[in-house]
Amino acid sequence: VSQSRYALLLVQTLGFLGFRVQLMHMAQAGQHVLQSLRDELFVHVQYLSISFFSRYEAGRLIARIISDVNTIRELINYAVVGTLREVLTLFGIIIVMARINLTLTGVAVVVLVVLIVIANYWRIYARDAYLQVSEINSQVNAELSESFNGVRVTQAFGRQAHNYDRFRTTFNLRLREAFMRATLVSALFFPSIELVGGIAIGALIYLGGSLVLSDVLDVFTLLTFMLYVDQFFFPVRMLAQRYNLFQATMAAGYKIFQVMDWKIEVDDRPNAQPLPRIEGHVRLEDVSFQYERDGEAILQSINLDVPAGQTIALVGHTGAGKSTLVKLIMRFHDATQGRITIDGYDVQEVTQESLRRQFGVVLQETHLFTGTVMDNIRYGRLNATDEEIIHAAQTVGAHEFITQLEHGYHTEVREGGTLLSMGQRQLIAYARALLADPRILILDEATSNIDTQTEKIIQSALDKVLEGRTSFVIAHRLSTITRSGIS
Ligand code: ATP
Ligand code: MG
Repeated sequence: VSQSRYALLLVQTLGFLGFRVQLMHMAQAGQHVLQSLRDELFVHVQYLSISFFSRYEAGRLIARIISDVNTIRELINYAVVGTLREVLTLFGIIIVMARINLTLTGVAVVVLVVLIVIANYWRIYARDAYLQVSEINSQVNAELSESFNGVRVTQAFGRQAHNYDRFRTTFNLRLREAFMRATLVSALFFPSIELVGGIAIGALIYLGGSLVLSDVLDVFTLLTFMLYVDQFFFPVRMLAQRYNLFQATMAAGYKIFQVMDWKIEVDDRPNAQPLPRIEGHVRLEDVSFQYERDGEAILQSINLDVPAGQTIALVGHTGAGKSTLVKLIMRFHDATQGRITIDGYDVQEVTQESLRRQFGVVLQETHLFTGTVMDNIRYGRLNATDEEIIHAAQTVGAHEFITQLEHGYHTEVREGGTLLSMGQRQLIAYARALLADPRILILDEATSNIDTQTEKIIQSALDKVLEGRTSFVIAHRLSTITRSGIS
């Protein structure tokens, strides 16, 4: 007796340890899967066309990559191996039960089928509820990120209470409701499983009892059978729980794959060749463009021939399509009609990487990244030395203000460059564009935030810098351009 007791203890201990090891391995494997999923998403999203980002807010994307990926974790951690174990256990028990009594086992199997039908019906509601949780969660994320990004405007207009109201009623409330609904849906599922299970046990006792009374079955066999029935419902309950988890995961997975499968509108052609170093001869042939398929035409039948090395000024009123035109040349969007060539290469037939590498841009909305001033300029060419960076800054007249910053070139600019003035950000963007040593330079309202004094410095620098490069200089007013003597 004592020996078998020790044996039992040993088996239990080993079983426990085995379970631990299995959990640890699963957790490790799961974390690896999640890590690569986040990697994949990040890479994919970065290559998505610019048009994607005007439809999918940053906050929503973050929710996809963080929350939805996390939802998948539990399934990977526990469900896959667990499900297999439970299905096997269930089959084992059914076989044992069938050997004890076929009729009673038949009843149990019918109950199992009923449960599967219930689960299948329930799934429709569960999926819907979990999809909604995921969607509203991501909307809340988007709202939060927008609110905090725009907090300066909010405070300037004293709209905190207004924003709070909006957040409380439209977003936070809906998030709670969505969670409540999902909880309710899963809360209804388990009791119905228990209920059917309870009815089944009652029916089995009744049926088994009558069989015993009519001497078809002896009472010990019935008792043994009922013990197995108890064992039968344990894996069923576990499977139901995993099924619930599975639905939540499916919803998150669906949302993730929506992003993963998002069609890249501007994609490299299968046979795209790298664009060799260009001279910079830009031609637009009968180019038309509209942002939305049924939207209004922003550009119509534009013909333009810019010989290599020439500076072209684009002047026009607000919303005329100047920025759009240069975005087409850089192939951020594809022209709806017509053709754009650089040195005779159609921009749609070369790789985007090789195309954009030849551009230097100072965009209308300057963006600096978290990091130092030095890091931000180096963004133009990652292998540039510190000296080259300082030289670029000197050329555009940014060196003076940078050296006056607390830590000079090593001053942190924070997200978006909030610690700097607009003009200072623009100067850094200038240095960044120059450092890239581009063949084509694009300056979109690049002096709009810069004082006339500094602008003069830039203009004289530009005379040198623009030499031999094709450049597009965009301005609202012709005066900006003629003042600098560019045209
Ligand atoms: P500004 O001088 O104010 O910079 P712009 O000439 O650069 O103006 P664009 O930015 O090219 O003007 O915009 C041209 C038109 O295209 C505008 O009417 C604008 O509403 C529209 N537009 C710009 N971006 C988009 C977009 N992502 N989706 C849809 N329409 C857009
Ligand atoms: Mg513009």
